[in-house]
Amino acid sequence: MSVTGASTPAPGRLETVRRFVNTLDIDAGTDALATPGDLAGWLRSASLLPGDAPAAPDDLAHAVAVREALREALAANHGGDPIPSGAVAVLNAAAARARLTATLTARDGWRPRPSAGGVDGAIGGLLALVGDAMADRTWSRLKVCVNDTCRWAFYDASRARSGKWCSMQVCGNRAKQRAWRDRRAESTT
Ligand SMILES: [Zn+2]
Repeated sequence: MSVTGASTPAPGRLETVRRFVNTLDIDAGTDALATPGDLAGWLRSASLLPGDAPAAPDDLAHAVAVREALREALAANHGGDPIPSGAVAVLNAAAARARLTATLTARDGWRPRPSAGGVDGAIGGLLALVGDAMADRTWSRLKVCVNDTCRWAFYDASRARSGKWCSMQVCGNRAKQRAWRDRRAESTT
């Protein structure tokens, strides 16, 4: 969703996960993670990667695979559907690379935390945020826009948890106009 970028942010650090998924702007055809340097810079700015750790081309491929698996998981949040098995496999492999370990926290019980360093650990930090959000029950409200040419991640703050689009003004209106055109086409045939 390149038009306004004004979809609802997620609470707390779940917003970092939303921003990660939205590094690819499908609608605008731009990817903020185009090079390993982009990835290292992004992870550093999100406080997930220590200052001097580099990223390699393999790290970039790994991060992009995780990003798209997360997008599939967020699409499944619309109907409370199970996460597709391919995405589950990618995320579990990433958790293994990050050596994600159940760790007892002082206030929040057992939580997944990465023990690997470098980009693997940074990706693990993102997955830990996903685990925290699942435990806090905010995860199921993080979704991607149902518009196939958009798929922008947004936080569904609606009371009924029924939000479908990144933005009512952008993709909501597009869908309404499409429905209106379809109805008009039907009524004239
Ligand atoms: Zn959208």
